[in-house]
Amino acid sequence: MKYQVDERGYYGNFGGAFIPEMLYHNVEELRYNYLKIIEDPDFKKEFNQLLKDYVGRPSPLYKAPRLSDRYQTNVYLKREDLNHTGAHKVNNTLGQILVAKRLGKNKIIAETGAGQHGVATATVCALMGMECIVYMGAIDIERQKPNVERMKLLGAKVVPAMSGSQTLKDATNEAMRHWIGNPTDTHYIIGSVVGPHPYPDMVARFQAVISKEMRFQLQEQTGSELPDHIIACVGGGSNAMGAFYHYLDEESVNLIGAEAAGLGIHSGESAATTVLGKSGVLHGSKTMLMQTPDGQVIEPYSISAGLDYPGIGPVHAHLCETKRATFYPITDEEAMKAGMLLCKLEGIIPAIESAHALAVLDKIKFKASDVVVINLSGRGDKDLATYIKYNKKNLQ
Ligand SMILES: *Cc1c(COP(=O)(O)O)cnc(C)c1O
Repeated sequence: MKYQVDERGYYGNFGGAFIPEMLYHNVEELRYNYLKIIEDPDFKKEFNQLLKDYVGRPSPLYKAPRLSDRYQTNVYLKREDLNHTGAHKVNNTLGQILVAKRLGKNKIIAETGAGQHGVATATVCALMGMECIVYMGAIDIERQKPNVERMKLLGAKVVPAMSGSQTLKDATNEAMRHWIGNPTDTHYIIGSVVGPHPYPDMVARFQAVISKEMRFQLQEQTGSELPDHIIACVGGGSNAMGAFYHYLDEESVNLIGAEAAGLGIHSGESAATTVLGKSGVLHGSKTMLMQTPDGQVIEPYSISAGLDYPGIGPVHAHLCETKRATFYPITDEEAMKAGMLLCKLEGIIPAIESAHALAVLDKIKFKASDVVVINLSGRGDKDLATYIKYNKKNLQ
């Protein structure tokens, strides 16, 4: 239990709900109701049925033979890339829209940076026939055209955030403003284990299906529910939390997070929060974030849009501080190499986010008998242009 959220919404020194007075009612309504709703048998039945028939769960746990051979150990891939919409994010958006429905809401808002969370949100809104507004920085709308088109095709309205740097944090501000103005009919779907309590815990519970499946799949394939290592990439930390959740109290299992080191930890162009970050408040919770000495958030950088975030969820700040999990910084270059290797050895093109987790295989010497599970958070279709550019550069 010591890694779970407490009644005050804290994980050790991190978490809480640091929100403007005007948002108190919205967040409090959610906090008061979320556990009652998601523990209700009727909710569980609907959620599990949709995870099975709509998302395509359980996602396979695949023993990668050639990758295992290469690293002289036993590498298993948890195939979240095979989910409907191509990543783990839909586990959470599906859970939250079912909560929204039970709270009597008929409108959904979300913010998105790269567009992945926006697409996963637009998808479940279409499924449930709910109105969907996605806030997105004007610059991100330019940079992420295909995802913007996907959201529109799915019936969502994409609203540009024109203030500030016109990126994710400005989109978040706009979404908050909308929510303050529409407290009774609107639910705000947050896309990772970030934000004010109860969001980090609620999102973790929806993603926990990943490690729930891992336990019985490992039992079937290896004769034990416990692996030696679990590796996952960490942007905000939702896929990692999903993969860790049912192993938090199994201290024999090494929990490993891969963070984006961008062009290098000390290059000024990275998103390696556990190395560079300090305690502060970001998006409504106390956590670790990259900031200047006077507390300004530092603009992060990573080749993978999903890891390009200046903080981590409060639960990961706690796992880091208590040393329950270990975090490895992975550069763009290391991730791209690891992603290419998976293409060649296993015929799987991973999301560049997930490639950061694969790159940890080069950082640790595993034993021949070790069971190593890597959470393959998403597929690489969206990253094709980046892979092509990388290959061109290396052929020159
Ligand atoms: C969004 C995303 C991530 C990062 O988000 P987390 O909340 O840290 O999981 C990782 N992988 C993929 C494929 C993503 O789309």
